[in-house]
Amino acid sequence: MSVKEGILTLEHIKKSYDSLEVLKDISLTVSKGEVVVIVGPSGCGKSTLLRCINGLEAIQSGKISLKGEVISGRQKDMHLVRQKVGMVFQSYELFPHMNILDNITLGPIKAQRRSKGEAEEEARKLLERVGLLDKMNAFPRQLSGGQKQRVAIVRALCMHPEVMLFDEVTAALDPEMVREVLDVMLELAREGSTMLIVTHEMQFARAIADRVIFLDKGEIVEDSTPAEFFENPRTERARKFLNVFE
Ligand code: ADP
Ligand code: MG
Repeated sequence: MSVKEGILTLEHIKKSYDSLEVLKDISLTVSKGEVVVIVGPSGCGKSTLLRCINGLEAIQSGKISLKGEVISGRQKDMHLVRQKVGMVFQSYELFPHMNILDNITLGPIKAQRRSKGEAEEEARKLLERVGLLDKMNAFPRQLSGGQKQRVAIVRALCMHPEVMLFDEVTAALDPEMVREVLDVMLELAREGSTMLIVTHEMQFARAIADRVIFLDKGEIVEDSTPAEFFENPRTERARKFLNVFE
């Protein structure tokens, strides 16, 4: 019997903005290859949680570890953490003045000191997988939202992260482009990537999740299998939240 390895651990995380307590006491262990979907009402702290994990925000107390190594409270080597924790945002965050290939290979070449040839070869392979090899020399403004988001995913993957974080990556897309992005994420999940996904796409959440976390007012209110959460939520708060999507 194989025992799943815990790869990312959050212990008693607290995060405030001045007097506003956004994350109250979050503890969570994510196993290697696990897909954890985080859902909850707007403003409950989902983005803040992901931003704390990849060091975009400092936490006030608690501890975050990746593969047994503490990664919180180390603001000065956060660039190293961000290589291991990939993040994709709602707003793509591609560099507008660089073509697609350069957007993808900048991190591997500059931060990881990989050779240009090797980084570009990998970037081309990844672009081909998401159906965008022909856009390699285009600039972000020449791509649709769905294409830009697939490039943003490839850019994160090219750094070989241990964990991938996705923050409402389809929220800004026209409906017909949502599917192409979700399909890429489903494929990554099938291949065994460790993923934390914030989404309002409930059908997708149910399909992709090994585990669903319901966050409300900065607390984990439910932590269950997708079947349990969607069919039989334990709390009134979760039932109320799910009713909105029916
Ligand atoms: P969600 O992603 O679940 O919608 P957020 O994590 O973005 O929620 O925000 C949680 C709470 O923290 C909200 O009340 C929001 O207004 C507040 N907040 C987020 N970022 C900041 C910030 N940089 N400064 C002050 N308050 C913030
Ligand atoms: Mg958010």
